[in-house]
Amino acid sequence: MDFALTPETEDLRRRIRAFVSDHVLPVESDPASFDAHEMISEKALASLRAKAKGEGLWALQLPQARGGGGLSVTAMAACYEEMGRSPFGPLVFNSAAPDDGNMMLLERVLPEGMKDRWLQPIADGKVRSAFVMTEPMPGAGSDPSAMLTTAEKKGGAWVVNGRKWFITGAEGAKHFILIARTSGDARKGLTAFLYHADDPGWHIVRRIPIMGPEEHGGHCELAFDGLEIPDSQRLLGVGDGLKVTQIRLGAARLTHCMRWLGMAKRALEIASEYVKERESFGVKLAGHEGVQWLMGEAAANIQTGRLLVMHAAWKLDQGDFARQEVSLAKIQVAAALHHAVDTAIQLCGAKGYSKDMLLEWMYRYARQARLVDGASEVHKMVLARGLLDRGQDFWSW
Ligand SMILES: Cc1cc2nc3c(=O)[nH]c(=O)nc-3n(C[C@H](O)[C@H](O)[C@H](O)COP(=O)(O)OP(=O)(O)OC[C@H]3O[C@@H](n4cnc5c(N)ncnc54)[C@H](O)[C@@H]3O)c2cc1C
Repeated sequence: MDFALTPETEDLRRRIRAFVSDHVLPVESDPASFDAHEMISEKALASLRAKAKGEGLWALQLPQARGGGGLSVTAMAACYEEMGRSPFGPLVFNSAAPDDGNMMLLERVLPEGMKDRWLQPIADGKVRSAFVMTEPMPGAGSDPSAMLTTAEKKGGAWVVNGRKWFITGAEGAKHFILIARTSGDARKGLTAFLYHADDPGWHIVRRIPIMGPEEHGGHCELAFDGLEIPDSQRLLGVGDGLKVTQIRLGAARLTHCMRWLGMAKRALEIASEYVKERESFGVKLAGHEGVQWLMGEAAANIQTGRLLVMHAAWKLDQGDFARQEVSLAKIQVAAALHHAVDTAIQLCGAKGYSKDMLLEWMYRYARQARLVDGASEVHKMVLARGLLDRGQDFWSW
């Protein structure tokens, strides 16, 4: 078993690390770089994006023909972790959610002839996108089969009615991927579509206030009252909505984990600086065994997550859906992120709890990790089902 990165991936990883250190961290350390929603301001982002593009560090997850780097999923794991060291990093390299997952999905399922219109502008960073699935009660959340938003075929178009919420980036996005119910069939009842923000028949009801910092465009509630989508903007076949969701979320959940690992490592980096400097009871904090145990435990959780991410990435590279492996990685990394940031705050004392440090930003952000793209309990359910169905084969390599 060879865990070494290829020389090309290692070179890219180092270049991203250097870019983040030299260009992104200085911007992040300036409070004026944050917008009203605690994310990088558009102005600061534009200048960093131009630099990243200039250095060939742009949308690396996409094929070279689309202006990307054609990375394998395992190579992405190494590179995204470096980007995730700063909360600004993934956006700077056009590898942030939800665009990143949406682009990988469109690259995979769109006919070539439609990619210039729907994918390329996102790949170029000219427009943003959103993935529209979750609904208010009693609609789809953890259970997509509860979906209430309907798309009804009328002539050559689909007419959409219903409500969605927590749609990341909806305010300001131009390209939307929508999942709606097209029949009552239990397995083939959902279908995926593309629509444009300028299409009439839908609107944003509100930007939902959340506890953490917000991605650009917030997390919005949407209402659909007669949006018409031409049949040509359907993704895959009628009834393939769950398949589209599975294709998107498989990779997108894992790229969340890759970025979160970078953030978890950063939390320990910040704590390390503090405990090496600060003294108590005659020694540096780093010299206390109790402190070492806290740091060692957080590091062990992170490394377990890294191995699970690499395994799932390797499976995805083999063409497997890696459902079980992605669920394992998502459960572990979401918990490891929260634990690492919590540990770092503890080790930095009152300063860690203050807004003088990035840790409190991370702490509020990290809480969503156990909810988004499937709650940890639902991923555990997936594992349990696999275990019950496949018995000893669940553990196969
Ligand atoms: C910051 C943020 C961004 C998001 N962005 C998007 C987006 O861009 N697009 C989008 O479509 N959605 C988005 N979501 C929604 C997200 O995907 C859902 O929150 C998630 O799927 C869970 O659905 P729910 O919130 O309706 O929880 P519910 O389904 O109401 O579940 C609530 C809780 O019940 C428990 N639970 C549920 N089912 C089971 C089970 N089978 N076994 C054990 N326990 C269970 C879990 O603890 C779960 O957290 C976002 C959410 C957040 C917080």
